[in-house]
Amino acid sequence: GDINGNIMPGKAENGGWGEGEERVNLAEQSLLNKLIRRSLVRNRNQVEVLQADPNSPLYSVKTFEELRLKPELLKGVYNMGFNRPSRIQENALPMMLAQPPQNLIAQSQSGTGKTAAFSLAMLSHVNPDNKWTQCLCIAPTYELALQTGQVIEQMGKFCPDVKLAYAIRGNRMERGAKLQEQIVIGTPGTVHDWCTKYKLIDPKKITMFVLDEADVMIATQGHRDQSIRIHRQLPMNCQMLFFSATFEDSVWRFAEQIVPEPNIIRLKREEETLDTIKQFYVNCKEKEDKFTALCNLYGALTIAQAMIFCRTRKMAAWLTESLTKEGHQVALLSGEMTVEQRAAVIERFRSGKEKVLVTTNVCSRGIDVEQVSLVVNFDLPVDLDGNADNETYLHRIGRTGRFGRRGFAVNMVDSQHSMDIIKQIEMHFDRKIIKLDTSNLEEME
Ligand code: ADP
Repeated sequence: GDINGNIMPGKAENGGWGEGEERVNLAEQSLLNKLIRRSLVRNRNQVEVLQADPNSPLYSVKTFEELRLKPELLKGVYNMGFNRPSRIQENALPMMLAQPPQNLIAQSQSGTGKTAAFSLAMLSHVNPDNKWTQCLCIAPTYELALQTGQVIEQMGKFCPDVKLAYAIRGNRMERGAKLQEQIVIGTPGTVHDWCTKYKLIDPKKITMFVLDEADVMIATQGHRDQSIRIHRQLPMNCQMLFFSATFEDSVWRFAEQIVPEPNIIRLKREEETLDTIKQFYVNCKEKEDKFTALCNLYGALTIAQAMIFCRTRKMAAWLTESLTKEGHQVALLSGEMTVEQRAAVIERFRSGKEKVLVTTNVCSRGIDVEQVSLVVNFDLPVDLDGNADNETYLHRIGRTGRFGRRGFAVNMVDSQHSMDIIKQIEMHFDRKIIKLDTSNLEEME
């Protein structure tokens, strides 16, 4: 096949991995985020808009009323607890609902309201009297397709004539029987089969095509090519909507293949900062010594909650067991858990049922647990070459300005090599990391 269809996620997305470590699975990470998210991620950055036709007026809305939605759809939106459009929705919704139809490429971090936006666009777009498929939406995995389908179903709760079908594995259909559902959501392979092999969908009758999580899509082998194959069968005048949480070059090239004459909307993620974090390091000999230091630290502080990062699953398991023996209530987030199990652990920790969360880096990428006031790097984050992984360090302990909460980060140093890493991190961020004596914790006050 096409080698470009087989792009593996690069190091930046993996945060580095080595022996005994786990690799980031982008699709799992995305699903985990969806499972634990209850509300919008706040973002104070300005939305950037690049119009296909710079001379056409630029519309944005501050309320859902302004969109002149069908009353039953508006009811569905309010029923989900949405009061007003999110940042990205303010611009994206009028564009997606415009007549004549406009194409859109939208990029913003997960949790900013993309899924809700295109679900609304699809529900608004279809003609319920026409009993054939009019909107096609593709997602990277079975689970992600189900999640998005649930949003569509919930939002369309008061639109009984609009029906949704899932083109996912295991959903066996009779060959040639044309689908009556106006919206189909599925994974690229099955959607392609339904259009060509089984002829359940007439691709020529599709008037809105949505490609969700484009960055995850191209990280999954074969999905890019399948998406392009589906896209080729669509009519010229089909409206194309393309979404991604990130936008590296490969995603951009993919977007250009799918979306002609695009309007482009971007919302940059809010930068994380170390400004409100006090950083320390502790000299230790080996893991038992690190453990003792950790217990001293924890015992001396009145901290709300702590998150502890280990390099390997094995270390995380050992530490959890040791802490539990000491009488701490500890939650463990580990790579062998299913995404649903991980979501449940994070929920418990969030609600304060456990005070300490032990995790490997990979498991907790992209999760922000606001109330955590102490982050411990039981093992320092390093890349494949053994150098400081500054990006991961920032992800672990950094905060976005909006929370403004003060926090502590404690790094366990157990060798000259790890001391060198501390120095590298200090240099990189130009922020002092102070030596801490865990038998004398006055510096932390
Ligand atoms: P994304 O697709 O960018 O990850 P979602 O559409 O899944 O974002 O939205 C993230 C969370 O915010 C979801 O829990 C969703 O229900 C909620 N949400 C989306 N739009 C709004 C809105 N306008 N007002 C309030 N909550 C919203």
